[in-house]
Amino acid sequence: MPELPEVETTLRGIKPHIIGRKISEISVRNKNLRWPVSKRVYSIAGSKFNHIKRRGKYILIDVNDGTLLIHLGMSGSLRIVECDQEFRKHDHVDIKMDSGKSLRYHDPRRFGCVLFHLGNINNHKLLKHLGPEPLDEEFCGEFLYSKSRGRNVPIKQFIMNAQTVVGVGNIYACEALFFSGINPKRLASKISRERYNKLAENIKMVLQSSIEMGGTTLRDFVNEVGEPGYFKQSLMIYGREDEQCNKCSKAITRIIQTGRSTFYCSSCQR
Ligand SMILES: [Zn+2]
Repeated sequence: MPELPEVETTLRGIKPHIIGRKISEISVRNKNLRWPVSKRVYSIAGSKFNHIKRRGKYILIDVNDGTLLIHLGMSGSLRIVECDQEFRKHDHVDIKMDSGKSLRYHDPRRFGCVLFHLGNINNHKLLKHLGPEPLDEEFCGEFLYSKSRGRNVPIKQFIMNAQTVVGVGNIYACEALFFSGINPKRLASKISRERYNKLAENIKMVLQSSIEMGGTTLRDFVNEVGEPGYFKQSLMIYGREDEQCNKCSKAITRIIQTGRSTFYCSSCQR
């Protein structure tokens, strides 16, 4: 599933190809994504792509007085291709530009979306309840500490909740908790300010290093024909059940929390 770093890398990959470009034609080959592709999407023909940014895992592209809101769902990708390049199966939305290139949305499982919102995008129902961006300054240990008081849920569940902070997926939650020495089952309300300082720093660190690694696979998002390249990363704890912990050599444990696998070291993480 594309996580925040893949979405950020997608954004950086497509940005230089779309900003300032005039949209010449839009075709929707299959509108049945998670939500139907907005009919208003057609109204952007003749306009320019003005600005692109990310909010959580949503890609937001300003066009005219509205915003194109794109989510990659479970299996989606955006690529820049030549306008006349043949469509592949699962290429659902195609936006041709005056450069002779197209921005093409591909999504085999169709859990993503391509919507158009008029007016202030921050008021959109999908965005207005989202917590802060993990890489922004306002996201820090103090923020987590105050937000967690009285929250009797496991810390892993707490940091994966988009109302706490956006974009901390399962892999990143496991890795950040390992680097912070925090047991994923520990209740959010019981963790000290000092440990939250460490955790906030490690969340930023694991996401940032994954984004940096993504830079090397940028090409995959702009012109390859294959599936989007999700980053191969060197993971310390995630996916390593029964292997030795890199810090203490004890076997790594796997448990299920709210339906997702959690990997941790019972000796390093308390
Ligand atoms: Zn260990």
